[in-house]
Amino acid sequence: MNIELNAAERERILAKAALFAPPPATLPDGRRDLVGMNRAELAAELDAIGEKPFRAKQLWHWIYHQGKTDFADMSSIARPLQEKLAAHFVVGRPEIAEDQLSADLTRKFLFRFRDNEAVETVYIPDPVEDRGAVCISSQVGCTLSCRFCHTGTQRLARNLGVAEIVGQFMAARDAYGEWPSPKGETPRLLSTIVLMGMGEPLYNYENVAAAMKIVMDNEGIGLSRRRITLSTSGVVPMMDRAGAELGVNLAVSLHAVRDDLRDELVPLNRKYPIAELLDACRRYPGGSNARRITFEYVMLKGINDSEAEARELVRLLAGLPAKVNLIPFNPWPGSAYETSSNNAVRRFADIVMAAGYSSPVRKPRGRDILAACGQLKSAANAG
Ligand code: SAH
Ligand code: SF4
Repeated sequence: MNIELNAAERERILAKAALFAPPPATLPDGRRDLVGMNRAELAAELDAIGEKPFRAKQLWHWIYHQGKTDFADMSSIARPLQEKLAAHFVVGRPEIAEDQLSADLTRKFLFRFRDNEAVETVYIPDPVEDRGAVCISSQVGCTLSCRFCHTGTQRLARNLGVAEIVGQFMAARDAYGEWPSPKGETPRLLSTIVLMGMGEPLYNYENVAAAMKIVMDNEGIGLSRRRITLSTSGVVPMMDRAGAELGVNLAVSLHAVRDDLRDELVPLNRKYPIAELLDACRRYPGGSNARRITFEYVMLKGINDSEAEARELVRLLAGLPAKVNLIPFNPWPGSAYETSSNNAVRRFADIVMAAGYSSPVRKPRGRDILAACGQLKSAANAG
């Protein structure tokens, strides 16, 4: 696809995203949620109630560095101003509608927002590194309908707003008490974000980008872009923009090495076929070994897991700084596929590895709590 076509497509995608905008950040009582505002917006809100711009910096620290939600806990702010702030604003969080802990310590939240829409957020601990990742949703449902994905069976209700995207991470940190202690120790457990929950982040680009800029701000949560991974099913026109503006790690849901099969598994492929997708990957900034693109490949028994396909995958990725993440298919009620056998996965991984690509097999996590993307949400709808 040439550059002009890409620009026109980008406009179309952004215009469509705006049709699915979240509700405004104002509560029924008229107070405004400060979470999700950038620094300039925060300063403008304070200006509107007659407060000086330096207050924005102060509040930013309390909200995003200390994780405080109650103005009364913001000890560097005098009591009268604390009360004034509380009269005009809130520091919001999504409501925890469900909270499930797996035997393997994966923890899954169903977060509900003010309009009653809900999404899933999953905390995935890494016991070896004593760290963990928070898997965040970007949309309620998804417009795409990948055949193996449970979220794909749920129509798009709406996009998540900036506050709702950042709020998932902050509420997860609340649940672990993972904010700096008064001694200033840095939180470690919840120090990685993967945008791999419900929805296609590049179809809600503006809100996702604004949210990631907030979590990357050094005076707040301060995550480095290397600790953030955005997973896309291959929205080619938005990939360049994400690379230029955010520079976070990229994961691409490939899942098939031939267009005919990928058309079926990931229907977006009909619009942006494999060759165009890989071109966009080649243009993505980074390129060094430390910033390889992750290619996600869900292993579906008898569908995409042959040795010939592993060899084709290696051929396709030639010259790209890549790693391959083999994901055992996580079945859900009514799904049309089966998980590949361990042998098939091992043979596939061996071929990819022999070609010099790291190809970790993702361990199934939280199966006992229905951790396949989109499942908890559907269970809640059904009940
Ligand atoms: N929409 C984005 C990000 C969310 S999905 C994307 O498609 O990349 C995150 C990853 O989970 C994707 O690679 C997706 O293909 C994979 N996935 C979805 N359903 C799955 C299932 N049932 N089993 C295993 N992986 C699944
Ligand atoms: Fe949407 Fe990703 Fe699921 Fe496809 S795999 S339906 S893009 S959430």
